[in-house]
Amino acid sequence: MALSRTQGLDPVVTDRDSPGGPKTPRESAGGFFFMEIIRDPQEIQALAADWRARGLRIALVPTMGYFHGGHLSLMEYGKTISEKLVVSLFVNPAQFGPEEDLDRYPRDLEQDAALAREVGVDILYTPEAAAMYPPGYQTFVAVERLSQGWDGASRPGHFRGVATVVLKLFNQVQPHAAVFGEKDYQQLAVIKRLVADLDLPLTVVGRPIVRDPDGLALSSRNTYLSREERSAALCLNQALKAARRLVGNRVTSREQILKTVRKIITQAPFTRIDYLALVHPETLEEVDSVRGESRLLLAVWVGQTRLIDNILLRESPECCV
Ligand code: AMP
Repeated sequence: MALSRTQGLDPVVTDRDSPGGPKTPRESAGGFFFMEIIRDPQEIQALAADWRARGLRIALVPTMGYFHGGHLSLMEYGKTISEKLVVSLFVNPAQFGPEEDLDRYPRDLEQDAALAREVGVDILYTPEAAAMYPPGYQTFVAVERLSQGWDGASRPGHFRGVATVVLKLFNQVQPHAAVFGEKDYQQLAVIKRLVADLDLPLTVVGRPIVRDPDGLALSSRNTYLSREERSAALCLNQALKAARRLVGNRVTSREQILKTVRKIITQAPFTRIDYLALVHPETLEEVDSVRGESRLLLAVWVGQTRLIDNILLRESPECCV
C-alpha cells in the first residue's frame, strides 16, 4: 500500500535509510523515517480518519512548496505538537490573480520531498489542481472584512482563494492543529477568523518569521530577485527595525513611524511601496498610534517582485502608567 502511494516518485520517496528494507510507515519502521507522498484527497482523508480513530494527534503545515528555512521551522514545530505531521504542497490557482505568477511560481518537488523527509514529515500531501477543483467546482468561502484591506486590496480574490483551499485542506487532513507563519500576517489573521467563525475543531498556531542573517525574510519569491535587487530588499527589514527603535524611544504615532519607514524604503533603489500600514494585531484595522501591541505591515515591489514583511510593535510598559 505504501509503495502504490509513492509510485512514479522515486527516488524521492525511496527510503534511503533502509535499502531493501520494508516500505512501511514511519511508526512501524523502528526508527527509520519513511515519508509517503500522497496525491489523492480521498486517500489522505481516509488515512487521517484512521489516525483519528486511533487517537493520534495530527498537525498540518499548508505550503506552496519550494521549501526554505521558514517552511522548515513550521514543520519542526509541527513535529513537536503532533504524532502525525502532514505537510501539504499545493500551488493553489484560486489565490493567484490573472496577472500574477502562478505559472512561474518556483517548484521543485524532488528537493522539497528530500527536505521534508529530513525533518521527519510523515506525509507530503501534494494534490493535483484537477483533484482540488474538479469540473463543476463552484464553492468558495470568504472571510469578509479581514480580506478586504492591504494584501486583499492589492490582490483581489486572493484571500477567498486562500480561505477556500485551507478549509478544503482542513477537511481532507482533519488536523488537530495547523501551523502558519507570521510572514503572511494577514493570511494568518484570516485563517484564525475562518476557524473561529465556522467552529472548526482545530487550533491555529502562528510562528515567527525566519530571516536570512542579513535580515531578509525568507520567501520562495526571493528567488526572483537579482543580486542588486536582493541587496535593495534589505531596506524592508531595516525599515521595520527602525520603526521598532522609534517605538522603543516612545515615538508611537502612526504618522511619524510611517514617515520614517517610507523614507528608508524609498531611498533604496528598485523599490515601489504598495502599502505601509500600522494596524491592530487581530482586526488589522488601522490605528493612529502604537497602543499596547500593534503590527506594522508592508508590501513593497522590488523590481518586478512584490515582497511582504511585518513586525510586532509593542509600546514599552513604562509609558502607560
Ligand atoms: P507559502 O509556501 O509561501 O505559501 O508559505 C507556507 C507557510 O510558510 C505560510 O504559513 C507562510 O506564512 C510560512 N512562511 C513563509 N515564509 C516564512 C518565513 N520566512 N518565516 C516563517 N514562516 C514563513
